[in-house]
Amino acid sequence: MGNMANLQQIKALFLDMDGVLWEGSNPIGDLDRIFRKIAQLGIQPFFGTNNATRTPEMYRDHLTTFGVKIIPEQVITPAVGAVHVFRERFPENPRIHIFGSPALKAFFTAEGFELVDQDADIVLVSLDREMTYQKVQTAMHLIQQGAIFYATNLDTVIASENGFQPGGGVMVKAVQTCTGVEPIVIGKPNPLMIDLIRAKHGLQSNEIMAVGDRYDTDILGGINAGSPTALVLTGVDSEASIRNYKDQPNLICEDLEAVVDTLALSRM
Ligand SMILES: [Mg+2]
Repeated sequence: MGNMANLQQIKALFLDMDGVLWEGSNPIGDLDRIFRKIAQLGIQPFFGTNNATRTPEMYRDHLTTFGVKIIPEQVITPAVGAVHVFRERFPENPRIHIFGSPALKAFFTAEGFELVDQDADIVLVSLDREMTYQKVQTAMHLIQQGAIFYATNLDTVIASENGFQPGGGVMVKAVQTCTGVEPIVIGKPNPLMIDLIRAKHGLQSNEIMAVGDRYDTDILGGINAGSPTALVLTGVDSEASIRNYKDQPNLICEDLEAVVDTLALSRM
């Protein structure tokens, strides 16, 4: 079950949400109780998702329905990550073209960015449930004209109450295929979102534990950040499905509450 000794150092959790906290509109376990336990341990919870179609405020509201009170600043989405990256890399107010959801566009507009359909410095591709040929073509032309190609995430599918649906990676691959250009990816398994929390809250990577239900995004993202990791068995992956990976998570637990109880035991 991994290295128990390091668990005492953990000061923060970087929690995936879908498949860890809830499945659709159903909570996984008694979230109110779980988050009271986390608070009692003095551990700060942060929330990280590859889903860029919802804003941090929307996640706060969703958690409120399960009795968990958080502030939007605790939620890192690829959109939040992209804002930091773009401000750092393009200090001169970049012109951004977004091939993505209305919520993603609204988020960037609210952050003060200029959204354009021509002469873009940046093309950001994400899940777009109204994907069209024309949208692929516009992104393609802008990238060929010199815009830098970013992707919020490469998730091939997303889980929903009606089974799996195509993920943002489908739109990204469409643009990648016709341009021959590889995107810069903001979401997991890129460690960028964990790095942001680390920098903002003065934490070391070994003090943040990444918790998730998917190996190729959540666990690999934690490993890439140099952080301890915990796989929960309430979502996509199972002990059998990750058996062949060389780097195993530090913990494999039935659910989030079991992760928290293990952390509590390590402190006794
Ligand atoms: Mg998940």
